Amino acid sequence: MIIGLTGGIGSGKSVVGGMLRELGAHVIDTDKVGHRVYEPDSEGWRKIVEAFGTDVVAEDRTIDRKKLGALVFADETHRKTLNGIVHPMIFQEILGEIAAQRDAGFQGHIVLEAPILVEAKGTGMVDCIWVVVAPRPVIEARLVSDRAMTPAEIAARMNVQLDDATRREHADLVIENSADLATLRAKVEAAWQSL
Ligand code: ATP
Repeated sequence: MIIGLTGGIGSGKSVVGGMLRELGAHVIDTDKVGHRVYEPDSEGWRKIVEAFGTDVVAEDRTIDRKKLGALVFADETHRKTLNGIVHPMIFQEILGEIAAQRDAGFQGHIVLEAPILVEAKGTGMVDCIWVVVAPRPVIEARLVSDRAMTPAEIAARMNVQLDDATRREHADLVIENSADLATLRAKVEAAWQSL
């Protein structure tokens, strides 16, 4: 099975992904895959520079993700342009990684940890979708204490993300992560057993 693991900022995707890895899944971190398409002089890098100019290139020739982020955060047209460039490339990288795992003989479950699986229209790549959710105040408390984020930063991120109600519509399984880690682990193990 290829499981798409998604959820909003701070919902607990990475923690759940880590638990699934311990249970034997191969977990693909799509954020990491995404970083590869920004590597200097790659096809992605060239297309981004073509579209956004050399202003978004840092001194060491990497893409200045903060600058690019600020640009696309403020303007939906820019956001669409960037997504149009990077999403197909990220899909290709993911398919390549899945094929490489299978070629290497891995027959277990593969988990695609993908924060924007639904937004990026990647749901067709997976066999089932697991959505991690937690109440907003719980997420805020975790991010303030664990990542030193401010409530304003958290709100800004949440406001551009899909809402949980929409994510739930796509879910084959909803993992409620409102309690402690032991409770979460029990839920993840039950989900794993059900596969
Ligand atoms: P992002 O999309 O921002 O990367 P995420 O969905 O991957 O977030 P995590 O990084 O897994 O979220 O979790 C957010 C924070 O909350 C982390 O610091 C994590 O340790 C903590 N956390 C997650 N679940 C629990 C829990 N059940 N109990 C306590 N802390 C938790």
